[in-house]
Amino acid sequence: MVSENMRMIGAHRSCIRELFEYGMEYAKVVGRENVFDFSIGNPSTPAPEEVRDSILASLETLSSAQLNGYTCAAGDYAARQRIVDSVNRKIGGSYKADDLFLTCGAAPAVIACAKGLTVDHNSQFLVNAPHFSEYRPYIEPHGGTVVSAKPDYPNFQLNFESLGELLNEHTQAVIINSPNNPTGVIYSEETIRRLASLLAERSKQYGHPIYIISDEPYRELTFDGIEVPWVPHFYADTLVCYSYSKALSLPGQRIGWILFSDKMTDAAAVHQAVVGAARSIGHVCAPTLYQRVAADCCDVKPDVEVYRHNRDLLYNGLCEIGYDCVRPQGAFYMFVKAPCGDGDAFSELAKKHGVLVVPAHDFGCPDYVRISFCVEAERIESSMPLFRRIWEEVHGL
Ligand code: PLP
Repeated sequence: MVSENMRMIGAHRSCIRELFEYGMEYAKVVGRENVFDFSIGNPSTPAPEEVRDSILASLETLSSAQLNGYTCAAGDYAARQRIVDSVNRKIGGSYKADDLFLTCGAAPAVIACAKGLTVDHNSQFLVNAPHFSEYRPYIEPHGGTVVSAKPDYPNFQLNFESLGELLNEHTQAVIINSPNNPTGVIYSEETIRRLASLLAERSKQYGHPIYIISDEPYRELTFDGIEVPWVPHFYADTLVCYSYSKALSLPGQRIGWILFSDKMTDAAAVHQAVVGAARSIGHVCAPTLYQRVAADCCDVKPDVEVYRHNRDLLYNGLCEIGYDCVRPQGAFYMFVKAPCGDGDAFSELAKKHGVLVVPAHDFGCPDYVRISFCVEAERIESSMPLFRRIWEEVHGL
């Protein structure tokens, strides 16, 4: 006998990974140059030089125990202090090293926050469509339920009407993700203020805090000078989850953090519950070497020009053909309306042309697809005739 819940999660594979793995196999048959893989969010820019320098310095100066041993569960104190100092400089805060808990990336950070806030089987977590496809498998196995608010067409900010209808006494947290995967939209300060005021009102009405879990792995990846509001400035009951996977191009190394504020309601209990939740899912400590890399490189700015260039190539190219695209303000994804009205059918059709785009049903918008543009610019340029052919096929031209 096995856990049916877990078996179902294992059997229903992430459509992103399925396409990504299909692309690797297909490339062996038809050649890499004939596969246009826009499926996964693996950063195409190399990790900055500073990452290499940091690793080499650690290898040269540290003992094996310092390099390879466990740290405390929250992470090395000095590393946390340096990271928190950097956050404070950027956002004008006064966080302390003990407010920071280093994790193996944003995924376990979000899981620990949601699990720590799951009171019982009635607990609900509101997400906003379109949303990252993994929230359901991250949260539901731990007892909570993910409830998805409707999209805010055509701007893809937050749909307050839908949020207002879905919030109830069982809502434990609202999960937001900005810059957003899959739209690349950044929630404006006005959106965050409105959300803060709605949640403050409902928290009062239901007699318990409704937290925000702000999932921010793309915080540094923004274009055109747009800034990402720091959510705790507007709503104290916020847990921030961050990752170096995207900004430092280190997705395989597994390093990120959760930032708590002592100004949160029930701050000590929330901190303990989230740390306990992390422990229960096997968190021992974040990789010791990469704790140092994060501390050494937390002020390094990613090369967003590469992604901005790709964004423009893809957006201008697809719009010219006739596709209806959301213009990304950050991250490296473009959300495109399937011209046939069905993201799955469009993804299948594109696949026949060697173009891999992710159908957005698991993101809560089945009529869209997501295109990851963290690829070489040449791949985008070469794919344009194919996108045109696919468009013509859909329209019977
Ligand atoms: N949250 C969002 C919105 C993401 O897009 C991703 C990865 O793509 C994650 C979390 C997980 O990131 P990490 O690699 O840091 O675990």
